[in-house]
Amino acid sequence: MIITNARILTMDAARPRAEALAIAAGRILTVGSRAEVEPLGGPETRVIDARGGTVLPGFVESHLHLVLGGAELAHLHVGGLHGEEALRAAFLGFAARHPQAPLLMAQGADYAMLDHPMTRADLDRILPDRPIAITAADHHTVWANTAALRAAGILHGHSCPHGHEVVMGPDGQATGELREFEAFVPVIALGGEARLNLGIATGEEPSPWPSEAELAIDRAKVAAGLAHAAAHGITTMVNMDGNRFTLELLDGLRREGRLTARVKVPFHFKPHMEMSALDRAEAMSRDYNDDWLQCGLVKMFMDGVIDSRTAYMLNDYPGVPGHRSEPLLPAARFAEVATAIDKRGLQIAVHAIGDGAVRNTIDGYEAAQRTNGRRDSRHRIEHIELIDRADIPRLGALGIVASLQPPHAPGAMDFAVQPTMDMIGASRWRDAYLCRTLVGQGAKVAFASDWPVTDISVLRGLGASQTRSTYAGGVDERLDLFDSLHAYTAGGAWAAHRETITGILRAGLAADVVILRGDVESVAVPDIATMGIALTICAGQITYSG
Ligand SMILES: [Zn+2]
Repeated sequence: MIITNARILTMDAARPRAEALAIAAGRILTVGSRAEVEPLGGPETRVIDARGGTVLPGFVESHLHLVLGGAELAHLHVGGLHGEEALRAAFLGFAARHPQAPLLMAQGADYAMLDHPMTRADLDRILPDRPIAITAADHHTVWANTAALRAAGILHGHSCPHGHEVVMGPDGQATGELREFEAFVPVIALGGEARLNLGIATGEEPSPWPSEAELAIDRAKVAAGLAHAAAHGITTMVNMDGNRFTLELLDGLRREGRLTARVKVPFHFKPHMEMSALDRAEAMSRDYNDDWLQCGLVKMFMDGVIDSRTAYMLNDYPGVPGHRSEPLLPAARFAEVATAIDKRGLQIAVHAIGDGAVRNTIDGYEAAQRTNGRRDSRHRIEHIELIDRADIPRLGALGIVASLQPPHAPGAMDFAVQPTMDMIGASRWRDAYLCRTLVGQGAKVAFASDWPVTDISVLRGLGASQTRSTYAGGVDERLDLFDSLHAYTAGGAWAAHRETITGILRAGLAADVVILRGDVESVAVPDIATMGIALTICAGQITYSG
C-alpha cells in the first residue's frame, strides 16, 4: 500500500514531515517525498490519495475502558439532559424500545442533572414499575430506583469495601445513590453486565467461567467498542481496568480476525488484596506480551472523584469542615505495594485525582525507586486533577508519566464548570487540571479520553487541549497543536512502553496510520473536532473508512 499526496506529520524528530509512505507486510517500508515513495509501487500496490489531508501515526488512547464503553453503546445516553421532564421523556422512549430489558440503564448523567441530589424517589416518579438506573458521566456514582434496588437486593443496604457506599436514608433504606463500583455492581448485574464490570469493580475473574454463548455476547460488545475506537482513528489503547478475562475476550476476537487495535490491559490490584495477588499480574504479563495484546501493568485507585467529594485532598473541601476524604491505600501500604510491583518489573498506573492522592502516589513511586533502584519503569499517574505546587517538579524528576484527559477539565469540552470548580474551591483553582505547567516542569504526558467517561473523539480532545480557558488565578494550560498531537501518538506509545512498535511513522515500525479529512495545521482550531477521519489503518489493514 502507498499513501501519497499527504501532509504527513511523522512525530519522528529525525524526519518530522513527509509526503508519502509505503506499507508492506503490516509495517512501514518507507516514509519520504512522493518522488522517493511512489516508484516503489507495483501492479499489486494499492495507492491511497490522501488529497492533501494530514496523515499521522494511529492515535494512542492512553486511558479508556473498552469493554464498559462497548457495552454502553447500547444503553440510554442522557449526557446534556437537564431536569426531570427531559429525563422522563428519554427513559419512557427507551423503555418502550426495550420492553423485555431486565434493567433500563442510562449513561452520562451530570451530577447537577436535577436541581437537587438525585434519589430513588425521583426515579420512581419517572418509572416506578421497572428497574432503572443512571450512571454519572464520571462512572463513580449510580442512582437507582426502588425497583432496581429491590431487584438487586440492596434496598436495605449491603456491606461494601472501604470507599464504596450504598448511601442510606433516615428511613433505614437506600436513598438510591450508590457510590463507587462495589456499591453499584449488584444493580449492573441485573442487566447481565456484571462479568464485564469485574475488571473495574473487583479485578477478579468470572466464576463460573462464562459459557461459549455468553462469551460470544461479551465479545460482540467488545467488538462494538473496537469499531467505535477505529472510527476515531485509534490503533492502540491502554485499557484502564482489567483482568485475564478481558485479555481472553480480546484474544477470542483476534482468533476471529476481529481485533482492530493493540490493547494493553492491566491487572487491577484492589486495596484489600494480598501481595501474592501480584502472582496473577505476573502470569498475565507473561502470557500476554506481544505486539497486539499486552499486560505488564498494574492499575490501582488511590481515591475517587471530586464531584462526590471522594477525591483525597490535602485541604478540607470548601464548606465541609474536616472533610478531605481519605486515600484508598494509606501511604505506607501503597509504598509497600508499589515497591513490590516495581520489583517484579511491572509498570504501575494509579488513579489519583485529589492533591492528597497525587502526593501519596508520588511518595510511593519514590519509595519504590529508593528500594529497587531507578529503572525504566514509566510509572503513571492517571488524571492529576489537583496537585500541590511542591509536587509538580517531582513528576519529571522521578520519571513519572502524567496521563491526562483534555476533555476532563471542567468547561473544556462536555463537563460543566460547576459544581466541580466550587467543590475544589477558588483558592485551589490555580493548581487544578494543569497540563502545560506539568510539561514545562519535565513531566512526560500522554493524552486520553477515559471513554466512556467522555467522548472518545481524539479530534475533539485535540480541540479541548488547544482551546481550554484559564481558571482564575491560574496560568495558560493549553498545549499547542504539535504537542497535543504528540501526546495522542508518540507520547502515549512511550507511556505504554510501545514506542518500539507504534506511535511514530518510521520505516520498520508498525503501519498504524490515521488519515484526516483535511489539513489539521490549516483548519481553524474549533473546526478540528469536525474534520473527520478518512481512514484508519492498523498493521497495514484498514480498520475504518469514513
Ligand atoms: Zn478511567
